[in-house]
Formats: sequence, C-alpha cells, structure tokens
Amino acid sequence: MATTFHAPVTITLPAPQATAPTRLVPAEIDGQRILVACPTWCTIDHVTEPEARLEDLTHSGNHVDLMADGFDPAADQHGDGSQLFAYACIGANPAARTPQEREAGIIISDGDGFLLRLDAAQADQFADGLVAFAAQIRGLARTLGDRGVGA
Ligand SMILES: [Zn+2]
Repeated sequence: MATTFHAPVTITLPAPQATAPTRLVPAEIDGQRILVACPTWCTIDHVTEPEARLEDLTHSGNHVDLMADGFDPAADQHGDGSQLFAYACIGANPAARTPQEREAGIIISDGDGFLLRLDAAQADQFADGLVAFAAQIRGLARTLGDRGVGA
C-alpha cells in the first residue's frame, strides 16, 4: 500500500522582492497543498485560486479600477452601465524568466491583454501623465460647452 504524504511542503521560490515582507501561506498547486512565500501586499487566496503548475503562481494586490460608462453594453460588469476601462495593482511572478517580472511592480492593464509593468518611478511618471491627460479631457469638455462636466 502506497503512503501518501499530506503534510504541507514549503517551496523555496525567491520572494518577489527582496525587501518586501513575506509570510508563508498555503497554496493549492496541481491538487497538492503547499506553503509558499507570499508578499504581505498580496491579496490572492492561493488555495481558492489554485494553479496547475507552480510556475503559474503569481502574486497580486488589490486592484484600483477605472470604470467608464456605456461604450460596450455587453461588457457591463456591475449592471450599472459601466465597464472596466483599466486597472492597476501591485503584482509579481516569482517564476518569470526576467528579474523585472520576478520583482514586484505596478501592473496596469485594460483587463483584456494590454499590460504595462512599471517600477515605482515609472508609475509616478505614468500617474503624472494621467493627471495631464485628465486636465486635457476637462479642457475638451469646456470646449464642448460644459455639457460633460457636472451634469
Ligand atoms: Zn501571493
């Protein structure tokens, strides 16, 4: 009769970021419960969101969503006429090929394949660009006669 080992196994993947605090959390990989180092900013439940392969395990923090109204009713995710335009979060892929992907970064995505991975300085610069973009949109709204602002 074969003996099955059920005790948690600790996997020693490198932490996503050397300076990021981590804790050991349970994860379900290919039907097996193991313990993995997980950064404290990660909000994924690695048991309820199992992976088939250890290489597929990623870490992600809470998403900051930018919702937009009414350009694709089929994509209405909240029943309020809005859909996800983009989201940002902290993410890391400890088994990635490049050091940049293994380390924590700011992920910006449209949720449909378009993806940016930024370090902290790049994210600050990107945010500055968004602020300038928002000001230009407000200028366009004023040009249109304030119909799109405060209605
Ligand atoms: Zn995690």
